[in-house]
Amino acid sequence: MAASLSATPAATPAAPSTGHALPLDLLIVGAGLAGLCMLHKARRQGLNALVIEAAGGVGGTWYFNRYPGARVDIQSMEYSFGFDEALQQHWHWTERYAAQPELLRYANHVADRFALRDAILLNTQLAGAAFDEASQRWRAVAEGGQAWAARFLVMASGPLSSPNQPDFPGLARYTGRVLHTARWPHEAVDFTGLRVGVIGTGSSAVQAIPVIAEVAAQVTVFQRTASYAVPAHNGPLDADFEAGIKADYAGFRARNQRMMGGFGSLQPPNLVSALAVSPEQRQAMFEERWRIGGFGLLGTFHDLIVNPAANELAAEFVRGKIRETVHNPATAEALCPRHPIGCKRLCVDTNYYATYNRPNVALVNLQTSPIEQFTPSGLVAGGLAHDVDALVLATGFDAMTGTLLKLNLRGRGGQTIQAKWQAGPLNYLGLTVAGFPNLFNIAGPGSTAAFTNVIVAIEHHVSWIADCIAHLDAHGLATIEANADAEAAWAVHVNTVAARTVYLSCNSWYLGANIPGKPRMFMPLFGYPAYVEKCAQVAAQGYAGFTLA
Ligand SMILES: Cc1cc2nc3c(=O)[nH]c(=O)nc-3n(C[C@H](O)[C@H](O)[C@H](O)COP(=O)(O)OP(=O)(O)OC[C@H]3O[C@@H](n4cnc5c(N)ncnc54)[C@H](O)[C@@H]3O)c2cc1C
Repeated sequence: MAASLSATPAATPAAPSTGHALPLDLLIVGAGLAGLCMLHKARRQGLNALVIEAAGGVGGTWYFNRYPGARVDIQSMEYSFGFDEALQQHWHWTERYAAQPELLRYANHVADRFALRDAILLNTQLAGAAFDEASQRWRAVAEGGQAWAARFLVMASGPLSSPNQPDFPGLARYTGRVLHTARWPHEAVDFTGLRVGVIGTGSSAVQAIPVIAEVAAQVTVFQRTASYAVPAHNGPLDADFEAGIKADYAGFRARNQRMMGGFGSLQPPNLVSALAVSPEQRQAMFEERWRIGGFGLLGTFHDLIVNPAANELAAEFVRGKIRETVHNPATAEALCPRHPIGCKRLCVDTNYYATYNRPNVALVNLQTSPIEQFTPSGLVAGGLAHDVDALVLATGFDAMTGTLLKLNLRGRGGQTIQAKWQAGPLNYLGLTVAGFPNLFNIAGPGSTAAFTNVIVAIEHHVSWIADCIAHLDAHGLATIEANADAEAAWAVHVNTVAARTVYLSCNSWYLGANIPGKPRMFMPLFGYPAYVEKCAQVAAQGYAGFTLA
């Protein structure tokens, strides 16, 4: 970290260039949708808040992930803010699943509509922050040396904002262009006539590969683990569908809130076991969901995520679709995932499997043909040289904890977040960390965010934090801090819930398994409505499980 960080009160923290009077109530890190929402809510509550953002613009995920084909996999009408009726009535999505440019326009619209920009410092990366016990304030320092003191530090720094750049030995020898999907250039990348290698087959790759293949001379996909993908059936947003939702947007949002993932009320899970129907009925029910597309496939039966035998029936249904779609039987077999469906994040695609029928697309199975070395012109896998003009790393993220663990973040007694989270991300309700008073984390581990429509999770977290601060202010209290026993019990709860599902049965980023050396701990909580109820209960009981002072 470039700037120095001390827990002793800085004499006079540098005033932000926005001219906001100090002291700050909230320092918010990140100007993605979470940071924007938190800033707006704080201001409406009369709090003095400042956002610092490392990037040159707002939008977070949608600022950085500009790769071809990048789009939401939750329907646009759901993946949007519900806190302002005029906003949701005004905004018009052009597609059923909005693409990155439109999502970025939406983030910018939110920033402009609610006049947020004067409290956002762009190109400002937090290096670290320490809780100063004497003044009961967070003292934060940016990489550039600017410093702030704030009562509350809100990490809106994103669950998927630290790209995973695997340490491929010898990659530096490759002289062609290397691009990471999560750090895509702002100018258009033209693959026309080029030979492109894509490493990784998670959600980003599944979206990018079909689009790249349309123009590239050759696409070679290097696959470590096959992905399940359900068709999006994307297209222009149907005007009647949009009007129908807008006629009662509040009701639509409320119905979604009652769903396990905070979305999908138009297609609720069938309340029947996959094991309780005949094979013919089962096939017909899977087909019906496949025809509609999207995550709803996992709701074809109520037990797909909790019963391995039921899950295998859904998995085999998708494998059947892969075999039906992909002409080359060996390629089809290599594309068939073997882990339980839904255990890793399900992909929502447009022509992913069919793309492997193109003569210019080849699959290299890294399970049987591992990467041996990189060369100036490409790489060697399974003894075969693959020369490529550009290499796309679709290698995902150091999810949920990667961004915080890069920081010099210190709580009481100078304890670092790295020491605190040595064995995994301990926290209470996913929102707070014992030993780190007045620190809030939005959409982080220990919450349902990763299993939820993240916008819904963000709005819930923002409201909870704002209400919590209002409670402290109303009672003349300065700090709130999770109790260690509540935190320990919460970690057990998150893992107990996961143990009732298929989520522990594969190596996913939910478990930290995609990052070498990362502690294996199941990070997200499953079940949004129960989580919301618990958070409300804690607040109603005067913040039970916390120490307020
Ligand atoms: C390609 C992709 C597709 C996705 N699709 C969906 C979807 O369909 N549905 C869904 O629910 N979720 C989806 N997600 C998850 C997505 O991350 C969230 O939906 C949402 O955008 C998260 O918003 P956020 O504001 O919490 O985080 P982000 O959008 O990640 O914003 C965090 C911001 O914090 C900034 N930041 C981080 N560290 C620092 C620092 N030290 N100093 C200053 N600034 C910092 C970052 O630069 C970033 O701008 C997707 C994620 C990706 C990567």
